[in-house]
Amino acid sequence: MPRDLSALLRELEAASNPLDPGPDEREALRAAIVGVAERYVRSLDPGVSFRAEERPAIGLLDTPIAEEGIGLEAVITHLERDLLSPGGHPAAPGHLAYLSGGGIHHAALADFLAAMSNKYAGLFFTGPGPVRMENLLVRWMGDLVGYPANAGGTLASGGSLATFTAIVAARDAHGLRGSDAVSSVVYLSGQTHHCVRKSLHLAGLAEARVREIPVDAHYRMDAEALARTVEEDREAGLRPWLIAATAGTIDTGAVDPLGAIADVAGREGCWLHVDAAYGGFFLLTDHGRETLAGIERSDSVVLDPHKSFFLPWGTGVVLARDVRALLDAHQLTGAYLQDAIPDPSEISPADVSPELTKPIRALRMWLPLVLLGVRPFRAALEEKLVLARLFRERVRELGFHVGPPPDLSTVTFRWAPEGMPGEDADEVNRALAEAVRRDGRVFFSSTQLDGRYTLRAAVLPFRTHLAAIELALEILEEALAEVTS
Ligand SMILES: *Cc1c(COP(=O)(O)O)cnc(C)c1O
Repeated sequence: MPRDLSALLRELEAASNPLDPGPDEREALRAAIVGVAERYVRSLDPGVSFRAEERPAIGLLDTPIAEEGIGLEAVITHLERDLLSPGGHPAAPGHLAYLSGGGIHHAALADFLAAMSNKYAGLFFTGPGPVRMENLLVRWMGDLVGYPANAGGTLASGGSLATFTAIVAARDAHGLRGSDAVSSVVYLSGQTHHCVRKSLHLAGLAEARVREIPVDAHYRMDAEALARTVEEDREAGLRPWLIAATAGTIDTGAVDPLGAIADVAGREGCWLHVDAAYGGFFLLTDHGRETLAGIERSDSVVLDPHKSFFLPWGTGVVLARDVRALLDAHQLTGAYLQDAIPDPSEISPADVSPELTKPIRALRMWLPLVLLGVRPFRAALEEKLVLARLFRERVRELGFHVGPPPDLSTVTFRWAPEGMPGEDADEVNRALAEAVRRDGRVFFSSTQLDGRYTLRAAVLPFRTHLAAIELALEILEEALAEVTS
């Protein structure tokens, strides 16, 4: 080799060396970052669930991306001050806003190992371990739902992508093309998550007719109205295609009457999709199995382990009753993958998903599940069901109007004293939500129900126990006194 070439290579190797720290450096770096994580987690209880700041995370802009690094100390300042401190804290016990599972520690360590090894999770040929692990979990969840042995699925980044994966499969299973969109009809309710409409749009079916079926007093889809609407559409020469039911709506946690809806889908030949992003893992409880009965008759289901299985953000699941539907919609390959001979015993995730390369999502679910067993997950879910009912009773005793008894673990409530006009009550409730956020120890979110500003408490994080619920009630009482004085 010419001397100047080998000198150049030595120089480049030395310059790129920071990318590959040795064992001692790795240990020091690990200790520093784990230290940040540990201090953060210890600060959560009792701590903050929401921190309102004037210009949140603005300090990040002080450090533009540049040729030279800034060193560990400055990085840690950014992590603590800018990344972790401002905004919501979904890992905190008082985080009763939106729907957070909290993010169990075991999953964080699993992610660390997944990233350290960088094992490939898309194809069985190079990643047999990750692929078998993912498929094992898919089979376990298929059994949980009550699907037959030819069911299949995959782990996606969240409920939205999982929904998209299912909608594309439903489209192809019914042979719908873009030009069929205008005559095809989709049935959902006003409580259906917007990711269903987004998926229709992404799947090239933005022009499909969408019927919003009314809900009952529990915010569950009215199955009789659904039956009538589908029949009318069929008689009008349209093409009823997809019924999107929900097992745990985001606003109120309502579970649609899945059995009655499955009857309609079966009779009318519609694809039944169940959005169980929130409710799915409650199937581990007796209450959940009763409430979600009929889910086993659906054609596809979405679950979100980063909600009711307490994993950190970044894991959703799509399951199809017949895995063929997913394969038909998503299987495609390239010449450069010619050595990746499919294995007859395991479907590769890339063949049932829009994704090719992805992280080992299975590990963050498998590790805690096999290490701890199912029992603590079930107990945590049962605890949330009981806590939600308790919260509803107590918030009613404080004088709030409460929504229907929760199907799952979300309670809606609103301050609306007799005689107060609706708009004024909206203002009071908005001010209440703000006062609680300013305090920050607990965090409720809100929604619009029947056109009214309504508060909601989603009792889901694994760290949320009785103490957090009592604290939430105390703070709510204080905030109410402040706002109404
Ligand atoms: C959270 C949620 C979604 C969307 O899932 P992401 O994981 O946020 O993408 C869809 N449907 C329901 C019922 C949900 O609760």
